[in-house]
Amino acid sequence: MPRNNRRREEGEPLDFDRLRGGYRRTESKRGESYTVQPISERNAQKTYTCPGCHVPIAPGVAHVVAWRNDGIMGESQGVQDRRHWHNHCWKIG
Ligand SMILES: [Zn+2]
Repeated sequence: MPRNNRRREEGEPLDFDRLRGGYRRTESKRGESYTVQPISERNAQKTYTCPGCHVPIAPGVAHVVAWRNDGIMGESQGVQDRRHWHNHCWKIG
C-alpha cells in the first residue's frame, strides 16, 4: 500500500543509523556538504568499489559511507546515491 511504503522510507535513516552503529559526522568537500558514516569491520559485510581508487573494499574492512546532504533532490536522494570509500581515499578525495 502506498501509505505504508512512504512511512517505511521516512523511517529508513533511523534504521540506517542503528544498523551501522557508528557516529555520523558532516564534512565539507569542494564546497559540498556531505554526511559521513563510518562502517566498522564487523558491519562491513559486502564488497563495494571505492570511487576514489576503483579498488574493491573487501568485507571486514572498516571504511566510510558518504553522501551529499545538500543535493538538489534532497537528502533522501543523497542517501540513495551514497558511496563507500576507503578511509584513506575519502580523506584525500
Ligand atoms: Zn579507495
